[in-house]
Amino acid sequence: MRRSAPGTLDRMNNALALVTGANKGIGKEIARQLAAAGHTVYVGSRDAARGKEAVADIGGDARLLVLDVTDAASIAAAVAQIPALDILVNNAGISVSERKEVTDEDLDTFRRIYETNVFGVVAVTNAFLPTLRRSAHPRIVNISSGTASLAASAGQAEGIIAFASSPTGALGAYRSSKTALNELTVLYANSLAADGFKVNVLAPGARRTDLMGPAALASPRAGDPAEGAAGAVRLALLPDDGPTGGFFSWDGTPVPW
Ligand code: NAP
Repeated sequence: MRRSAPGTLDRMNNALALVTGANKGIGKEIARQLAAAGHTVYVGSRDAARGKEAVADIGGDARLLVLDVTDAASIAAAVAQIPALDILVNNAGISVSERKEVTDEDLDTFRRIYETNVFGVVAVTNAFLPTLRRSAHPRIVNISSGTASLAASAGQAEGIIAFASSPTGALGAYRSSKTALNELTVLYANSLAADGFKVNVLAPGARRTDLMGPAALASPRAGDPAEGAAGAVRLALLPDDGPTGGFFSWDGTPVPW
């Protein structure tokens, strides 16, 4: 990533970015916005055909990178294809189709969701760290959720969880996986601060995507994925004096942990 003066976002160009799970939804929008801003974007997709279609749609210098974040061989193959990287956006994520209370959620659901949302992020991040360390301005953006806020879950931060007006135990596997991701973000930020990394986590807001299911498409609370993606792009292009170890909403405001 090259910039003419520190802190001037508008002059940043030619960054190399990888967005996991970028064949659709918020990830595709992140990739689209980075490519539109003139950056090279590796469009992570576990399915080559879906990824190829997304690359054609995104345009600019978008490139297909077949990457399943739960598959060690796939991660190793992806690392081998990328000689340099400035920005890693850990976007790939899954949830459940049926909203249950945590008391009714089965253990296999927890394992499946943690495999992608938590272990997948650790595996991909650690695998790409040597490549990112070669960047002059390395950035990592993790895509979390406002529903992961402990403060919101405990009823201490109203208005963050759009779907609940009072504390609830719903979506326990998904929400706790993202809470773990929040903590990992802080730990990575701490470990990598001296090396110039900015590591932050985003709550993209409720968005109309497949993850939210068909009901979300009709919900007035679910917004445009592009709006949430813009928050990730802001964190991906942070200047050297920008924050690290922070939890931010799509509009840039801090989210209570
Ligand atoms: P989405 O449309 O379902 O997209 C999820 C993406 O992740 C897809 O590209 C999917 O690929 C990919 N993915 C899933 N498992 C993967 C794996 N093992 N390896 C690689 N890629 C994988 O959902 P989205 O709403 O855009 O979600 C993006 C991120 O935003 C997630 O981390 C989600 O938790 C977070 N988020 C979303 C919302 C919302 O309202 N939509 C709110 C808060 C947070 P396939 O097409 O192959 O399945």
